[in-house]
Amino acid sequence: MKQISQKEKFTEEGFQEDNLNQINKFTQRHDWQLEEVQELFDMPFNDLIFKAAQIHRQFHDANKIQISTLLSIKTGSCPENCKYCPQSAHYNTGLEKESLMSIDKILIAARAAKESGASRFCMGAAWRNLHDRDVGNICNIIKEVKEVGLETCMTLGMLTKKQSQQLKESGLDYYNHNIDSSEEFYSNIITTRNFQDRLDTLKNVRDSGLNVCSGGIVGMGEMVQDRAKMLIILANLEKHPESVPINMLVKVKGTPLDHIQDIDQFDFIKTIAVARIMMPQSVVRLSAGREEMNEQTQALCFFAGANSIFYGEKLLTTNNPEVKQDQKLFQKLGLLSIN
Ligand code: SF4
Repeated sequence: MKQISQKEKFTEEGFQEDNLNQINKFTQRHDWQLEEVQELFDMPFNDLIFKAAQIHRQFHDANKIQISTLLSIKTGSCPENCKYCPQSAHYNTGLEKESLMSIDKILIAARAAKESGASRFCMGAAWRNLHDRDVGNICNIIKEVKEVGLETCMTLGMLTKKQSQQLKESGLDYYNHNIDSSEEFYSNIITTRNFQDRLDTLKNVRDSGLNVCSGGIVGMGEMVQDRAKMLIILANLEKHPESVPINMLVKVKGTPLDHIQDIDQFDFIKTIAVARIMMPQSVVRLSAGREEMNEQTQALCFFAGANSIFYGEKLLTTNNPEVKQDQKLFQKLGLLSIN
């Protein structure tokens, strides 16, 4: 089969034509090859983000941002050894461990999130996998949070097919399970599970009818090629994840990656732009790492196609900009939240 070069695929004329068939064909691409994705990463910065912005505007309102709030409902003591994570029991980060949070506390946080303007409430538990004994509790949490009037997302580690179905039946909207990086780089970061385990859970989640939230982390010492391969895995899934969080590593003291060299923020913006080009209809979330970014970097991420953020002073355990600060930034940029 003849390989079409990236330049041929993305001619200006192609987009000016506004040919719906062409757009749909392009949208549904699940055959991305490494060479063409590398070509995207190699494009001059301005050309790349302009292209990403054009595609963004074909499928999304460029001035609207989806807002999620994240809550850790079970913190620390995780048996996995993800080198970036302060919740791993393998590292001493001084994190206070907590057992599964009571439903009352979760609902207080959910109502506060709704009042601040969040449309989705994401809950994370530091587990290797969901245990059947916890399924009832988790399903109850989902039902109660939905009654607050929020979409729900959970990240609970690996899921079986049956558990995915149970969560779906309880009303869960999204399940988050990041692939983190390329398959090749994965074992440099985590050795207590393998890349295929991630893909198996993603398949269970997708088959159950849940929306998929899956992305990764950049700035862990990986090469550009690893970022390209990570995005290829996501874009070449049978269906693109509905939500694609792109995280910039938050270096936490006590984790093995706490001294890794900072990623150049232009490289981070480029990753957002390439994700937008490859998965045009997905919501791309500018996720962890915003505390380290100035407003201009965040604005460029939004221009390049990021259209979701986490709102609230805390992510699972690391810091995030204050809501007021985000509201000010939204005002400066004329951004509105999607309700
Ligand atoms: S990232 Fe998740 S699975 Fe890995 S150590 Fe942290 S809580 Fe556990």
